Amino acid sequence: MSKNEKTILYRIYERFSEISNFAIKNKIPRIFVSDISSSLFCEWRKILEIKHGKVETEEMILGTKIHEEYFAYELESLDELEKIISRGETIGLTTKVGFIWEEKNQDLKVMISGEPDLMIFSENKLRKIVELKTRKTYEIFSSDILQLGIYALCIEKMTGENLKDLLLEIRVKVVADNLKEFSQNFYYKDIRDGILDELKSSLDFWLGKREPKIPTSKNICLSCYFREICNRKLV
Ligand code: SF4
Repeated sequence: MSKNEKTILYRIYERFSEISNFAIKNKIPRIFVSDISSSLFCEWRKILEIKHGKVETEEMILGTKIHEEYFAYELESLDELEKIISRGETIGLTTKVGFIWEEKNQDLKVMISGEPDLMIFSENKLRKIVELKTRKTYEIFSSDILQLGIYALCIEKMTGENLKDLLLEIRVKVVADNLKEFSQNFYYKDIRDGILDELKSSLDFWLGKREPKIPTSKNICLSCYFREICNRKLV
């Protein structure tokens, strides 16, 4: 890397600002990565959330508190961070990511954006993206993998880099077990195609091209906070 060449962090940061300004100027709607992943098991729940407001469970409140403590790092200036990354040192931080999705043969555009919990840079490369979840059980869901995969897709689209070695890590803190932690890793290259298919299918719902899906399993409805008022519940 030459002295004046910008790091991947700088390119992500700069590109996000360009894309975001373009979206604002051209009135392109924005969809958050967390909304796409959280609608994976029931899209109808998103309609109820928009109508009645989001319900905050105890687990969610605790999750927010843990997030604030866990990721309470002080961000230095971008120039300082650039120097650290250029020296090849390992550093964890986060920044917003996103890209504009264009529907082929249609005039439909949407900005997909979000912010991973943690991005680990080392030896001048982005090595890993981490997402932290607070749960009652030691479980990882396909929606977690979808969320991390879309973040990786955003970075791939923003930088044009092949992210075949990028690791995605889901860390789960278990509320019922003194906040013990376990984690699982995936390589982006192994899940990339599946993520693209899921995203395309989800955007059909978000862009109003089809009816919202409801769950395929009764268990999803059993743990849903809208069950009392939902007229599409399975149980
Ligand atoms: S009760 Fe079931 S169908 Fe209704 S919003 Fe909740 S998960 Fe979806």
